[in-house]
Amino acid sequence: MIKTDILIIGAGPTGLFTVFEAGLLKLKCHLIDALPQAGGQCSELYPKKPIYDIPGFPEILAGDLTKNLLEQSRQFEPGFTLGERAETVEKQEDGSFIVTTNKGTKHQAPVVAIAGGLGSFEPRKPLIPNIASFEDKGVEYFIKDPEVYRDKRVVISGGGDSALDWSIFLADIASEVTLIHRRNEFRGALDSVEKVQELTSKGKIKLITPAEVINVIGHNKVEGVVVAQSQHIDKEFIIETDHFIPLFGLSPKLGPIGNWGLEIEKNAIKVDNALDYQTNIPGIFAIGDVNIYPGKLKLILCGFHEATLMCQAAYKIINPGKKYVLKYTTVSGIDGFDGSRK
Ligand code: FAD
Repeated sequence: MIKTDILIIGAGPTGLFTVFEAGLLKLKCHLIDALPQAGGQCSELYPKKPIYDIPGFPEILAGDLTKNLLEQSRQFEPGFTLGERAETVEKQEDGSFIVTTNKGTKHQAPVVAIAGGLGSFEPRKPLIPNIASFEDKGVEYFIKDPEVYRDKRVVISGGGDSALDWSIFLADIASEVTLIHRRNEFRGALDSVEKVQELTSKGKIKLITPAEVINVIGHNKVEGVVVAQSQHIDKEFIIETDHFIPLFGLSPKLGPIGNWGLEIEKNAIKVDNALDYQTNIPGIFAIGDVNIYPGKLKLILCGFHEATLMCQAAYKIINPGKKYVLKYTTVSGIDGFDGSRK
């Protein structure tokens, strides 16, 4: 059981900044994210796009904003459960909550902050009838740690940036990389397409187009995939492999949080914005893109503001009766922080 003061669901910009604001109040945080890395939409959807409306930064790349937020939060030593989706919540007799993920990891906290953005990003899965039985047994929809594939045979399918970039990256790590795409043209960056073609001509990537994987074979783990060439649907063949990685993109879904008894409007969680962004369940807050209230704007800086006010309310729940006086952080840093802003 992982225990913390504020359990944050979602490690996007809102969730990451919550760690900093909570840290100033000496509250510990643990974050859960369905993605294998922090940053939410900024790292998953547009890491190389500049953002122009972060106060104090005339321009910053979304990926760099994520790096900075991680750096800013690191001093408060947050915990992370990455690559797991928060699935259920149970209220305990002492008022705390136990949140369990799809992989069975349990977290307990007196306050839950849902910073789930557009929802948990779920991989788009190929329509292969038996694929579910090979998940985590050689079929992976995310690459969490490339070292897993060292000296292994890998089949990747997909036609976007993810499929191209990982094929390029794994060409130096895996013993064999096969990239399969159902069209001859790719959707990814031209530069990446050229690099794949170059590696193909050097024999470091085996490129098969137009084709699709139609079956996975193996006993208890992936041992091969059945491929059909799109032009000759009757022409099927087997590629022996240790891993099959379909990279068909991600789609966000509010998902299981939608069944937690929270008031939902337009696929977002209703909160009391006049007070502290608490939901209809006391002790559960919703901040950032995931919430809705009159006049809501889905912007990063709005998530930062909501996180700040939410932490003040969390402090009162966690330290009932304890007086807290808001002052300011100094330019000299927050070393020796004594529980109040200086
Ligand atoms: P998100 O960034 O969506 O992060 C939420 C995280 O929660 C995700 O990582 C998700 O996996 C996780 N999650 C959700 N449910 C679960 C669950 N059940 N279990 C585990 N994890 C879960 N905003 C600006 O202010 N300026 C801009 O210039 C700007 N440009 C944009 C450009 C694009 C192309 C897009 C798509 C958005 C842009 N935005 C911009 C919007 C901005 O990205 C969002 O407002 C911001 O990301 C919201 O942050 P968040 O932390 O609330 O949610």
